[in-house]
Amino acid sequence: MPSTPEFQQTLGKAASFSGTALHTGDKVTLKLHAAPVDHGIKFKRKDLQDEPTIDAKIENLKTVERATTIGEGSVRVHTVEHVLAALWAMGVDNAVVEMDANEPPIGDGSAQPYVDLIRKAGVTAQEEPRKFFDVRDTMHVESKTGALLVLLPDDKFRISCTQAGPNNQFTQFLSLELTPSIFEREIAPARTFVFYEDVQPLMDKNLIKGGSLENAIVVRGEAVLSKEPLRFADEFVRHKILDIIGDLALVGRRIRGHVVAVKPGHAVNAELARALAREQTRRSAMSAPRAIPIGDSGLDTGEVMKILPHRYPFLMVDRVIGFEGENKITAIKSITINEPFFQGHFPGHPVMPGVMQVEAMAQVASILLFKLTKTSSRVGYFMSADQVKFRKPVFPGDTIFIHAELTRARGNRMAKTKCYCVVNDAIVSEAELMFTFLDK
Ligand SMILES: [Zn+2]
Repeated sequence: MPSTPEFQQTLGKAASFSGTALHTGDKVTLKLHAAPVDHGIKFKRKDLQDEPTIDAKIENLKTVERATTIGEGSVRVHTVEHVLAALWAMGVDNAVVEMDANEPPIGDGSAQPYVDLIRKAGVTAQEEPRKFFDVRDTMHVESKTGALLVLLPDDKFRISCTQAGPNNQFTQFLSLELTPSIFEREIAPARTFVFYEDVQPLMDKNLIKGGSLENAIVVRGEAVLSKEPLRFADEFVRHKILDIIGDLALVGRRIRGHVVAVKPGHAVNAELARALAREQTRRSAMSAPRAIPIGDSGLDTGEVMKILPHRYPFLMVDRVIGFEGENKITAIKSITINEPFFQGHFPGHPVMPGVMQVEAMAQVASILLFKLTKTSSRVGYFMSADQVKFRKPVFPGDTIFIHAELTRARGNRMAKTKCYCVVNDAIVSEAELMFTFLDK
């Protein structure tokens, strides 16, 4: 592991270029802007009312057919992988990608135009260290179609990729360590390639109006059709590596590990990104302190009761043990056999009801929101619960660490939180809880 910390980076100044959108064939202008630390990469739809932004995060992944689409609510951004790969590989951690359409200009089908744009904008270091995902154990994902991705521990980010077309035609292999200069030289110029049989139906349906031999290499039988000659003898495997980088950028952390890919595609890439995000969540949830601190960093029962109106037997928070920045909170609740719900749930086999865990998460999230709004004239109402999962039973004698993180806030009208209950280093339940703010 490198001993010197690496710092987050953003763009030196804004820069833009225009071109054709692949699917609609419309003209689109893409502009890159600098962004503050821990912002990550966000897409902004300048053409829509209120100019909504979409986080380039795996949670927002919508579809992976031929290209990677992300979205929030009804807003979508298509074909994000090449611009994401360029930003990530050129070392940009924080940026806003502003567009006046629902997809970036396709350029020549490679990441070269985006690399040129990043060069124009410049890359500058910020104050906060980068966040990494260190691969500790071998992980893998595979698909029914024979795609396989294996992730091995490594102190660098490396990719070894094998690409094979139909009937193992055009089988190519390449292995490299990913640095900005290697990306720029070896990967960025590699263009999108398609097999004629795959795109013919789309051309017939007019679904790729902007598609042409200027922005893709078309393979028809043995023939390779493109406007200019191949840029590398093994251009296909290089483009596959480009797509892997772009799709894994959705993890939002720099990976230290070795990706070994066989016949990769967007679907399996996304599945690996999801597995990494899940593992990261598990690690963060497990970093709760084993010794419970008292003092300034948290809130004792009295302080909790000043914020929450709940009382026995419905107060599900014993103590807040700490806040992390503005957006994260950890609290504890010790479960004893004296909890009133154990009388009926169930006699002879006491198990804590899952709904009480959701209630505990909602109370902890409310404390976070209270700290955030700091206004006593508005109060947060628990509005809905989504993605609720009960993973393990909770018994008398257990201490629950309750984590809540604010994942989205819309003005002071609504807020979304991701919450976990953890017992003995294992997630016992989780939920996404939504709150709306109303005047008291
Ligand atoms: Zn691609």
